[in-house]
Amino acid sequence: MKCTLCSEKSVALFDSKPYCKRHFIKRFEEKALDTIKRYKLINSKRVAVATSGGKDSTSVLYVVKKYMEKFGLGKPIALLIDEGINGYRERTLSDLKRFCELENISLKVISFKEEFGFSLDAYLKKVDSKPCTICGILRRYLLNKHSREFDTIVTGHNLDDESQGFVMNLFNSDILLMIRQGIVSGAVGFKDFTNRVKPFYFIKEKEILIYSILKGFGLGYNECPYADSALRAKFKILLNEYEMNNSGAKKNAIDLFMKLKEELSGSKNEILKDFEISSCTVCNEPSSNEICSACLVRSEYNNAKKANNK
Ligand code: SF4
Repeated sequence: MKCTLCSEKSVALFDSKPYCKRHFIKRFEEKALDTIKRYKLINSKRVAVATSGGKDSTSVLYVVKKYMEKFGLGKPIALLIDEGINGYRERTLSDLKRFCELENISLKVISFKEEFGFSLDAYLKKVDSKPCTICGILRRYLLNKHSREFDTIVTGHNLDDESQGFVMNLFNSDILLMIRQGIVSGAVGFKDFTNRVKPFYFIKEKEILIYSILKGFGLGYNECPYADSALRAKFKILLNEYEMNNSGAKKNAIDLFMKLKEELSGSKNEILKDFEISSCTVCNEPSSNEICSACLVRSEYNNAKKANNK
């Protein structure tokens, strides 16, 4: 098949149209840059990109750097949370370090071990719990704590992630979490929270994978060993199967979510009326409860450790 824009042979589909390598990269970057511009995702020099050394966050780091340089905003900083997952994190960190050196981007690594005194692996050996739930609580906590010096945190979330999130919240009837999702997400407007933005909101995971290969980012494409245990993994399979026979279903879910979010914004205050953010009495970080979830996780670990030492 020929490229949609020239006489070269196509290498892959983007937005369901065939493109050669050069035009695939061009269309991909145009779409991401257009999303940044249209939704005013980046407006200052103080931008951090939440990275993992995987295809999504490395690609978004590259595209954001390109955007910021183009508009004289300097360069973003890459932030990586090292959970301490043996056989996985060291590999992705090494990929990311190499990439950041090559692109001359500063990298800040924040580790569970240094911040909490235990790695995720160590925690799971002591406390019987779901890896992604614990990891999610601690990652969000650290990302928030270390992002106050920035105006914006960019993440590599894509169309697949966002449609899965929407359907999961729908199935769980979690309206509070639902209204905090979107192209600009998080506790938007609350003090002590930095907005999270998603330039790949309308781009498919598969397209990011192809982009990262065509760009030759040299990633190892390692998967977290705990990924299959996450509830999200089940929704991923479900939506992929559905999309296979109903092309465009994920995009439809996102379009519906955006309309719903707009509708709900009028009643946002009503939904949020019982939801207050104050400070955790232990660590002083923002929390909707007296003690934040990260401090509860920390105390679970310390209790289990004490019990094991008896
Ligand atoms: Fe953490 Fe789960 Fe992601 Fe692994 S898959 S990095 S455990 S959230």
